[in-house]
Amino acid sequence: MKHGQLRHRERTASVQIDGDALRHNLDKVREYAPDSKVMAVIKANAYGHNVLIAAEHLDQADAFAVAMPAEAVTLRRAGISRPLVVLQGFSSLTELELCATHDLQPVVHHQWQAELLHNATRLSVDVWLKIDTGMHRLGVPLVDVDLIYRMLKSSAVVGSIRFMSHFANADDPSHQLNNNQLESLINVTSNYDAERSMANSAAIVSLADSHLEWVRPGIMLYGTSPLLERSAADLGLKPVMQFESQLIALQQLRKGDAIGYGSTWQCPEDMPVGVVAAGYGDGYPRHAPSGTPVWINGHQCPTVGRVSMDSVCVDLRGVDARYGDRVVLWGRELCVDTIAGHAGTISYEILCHAGNSAYPGQ
Ligand SMILES: *Cc1c(COP(=O)(O)O)cnc(C)c1O
Repeated sequence: MKHGQLRHRERTASVQIDGDALRHNLDKVREYAPDSKVMAVIKANAYGHNVLIAAEHLDQADAFAVAMPAEAVTLRRAGISRPLVVLQGFSSLTELELCATHDLQPVVHHQWQAELLHNATRLSVDVWLKIDTGMHRLGVPLVDVDLIYRMLKSSAVVGSIRFMSHFANADDPSHQLNNNQLESLINVTSNYDAERSMANSAAIVSLADSHLEWVRPGIMLYGTSPLLERSAADLGLKPVMQFESQLIALQQLRKGDAIGYGSTWQCPEDMPVGVVAAGYGDGYPRHAPSGTPVWINGHQCPTVGRVSMDSVCVDLRGVDARYGDRVVLWGRELCVDTIAGHAGTISYEILCHAGNSAYPGQ
């Protein structure tokens, strides 16, 4: 198996990236959307998975997408020659020039970006025009699409123009806004002969009509479920990030003993408690409450007490565990979606946080 290993320097906790799982998940995207080109979203350091490791293992994608020009320049400097889409586009003439120099495809989501392009000279860029079809975050309003398209078309520096929009509720396939948004995109672009992109991971697996010419998977490439109601395994995805550590202490505590900061958890009986060398300093979510599982020797052991910076305690009742035993915080044995659910957040945030904690200084 091909792995990228990201070790927390001088720490026991470690994050490993399973390159084969990345490839597998990209193949799954192709199965779900066989007629579309794939723009693999590797923003935020590939959701914490290390953007260079991700780009290497996802080299069968038709394009990559990042949020900002600087992220794309890092990829170019590393020798990545695929088309690179910059989802937030440029925020200054300098950034526009950077896009042109490095052959990046910026997203134009605001009229002032179109104006900058309209007035620019001596450069050349392909662009994506982003349309706000109902999420009300980035994108030009439906009523301005024709105007801005014409501005881009008449610009001396703009090469090809493609369209994109983004779903607000794709994780809930029955949400009525999904169809409204898709229809809006299709209607407003129907007079142009241009490629379109709408679907993120959730739409790739559940809204086939939205696949169009380009799909934009992010989270499903990393092996977690984009849907509220379906598990990653159910969708045929394999976890990519393996976050592990070790047991560094075991104690036999007495009924009534309280554990950790704030003494928030009390032993209901005499019982063994273990200490795992992973805490919020390693990217384990501090908000994960008592009861969040960790995997030890084939058992899901609930955490007990608050998560500390470098450690978290676990209930070892019924588990044969020893000092030094391997502990999986999430990965193949335990889905990160489960941890996210306990911590009241989504896998995206937890993966970004843990992965990026594994690269001090990056
Ligand atoms: C992050 C992002 C995606 C990927 O979304 P997932 O839910 O991770 O698949 C797609 N499109 C845009 C515009 C994004 O910002």
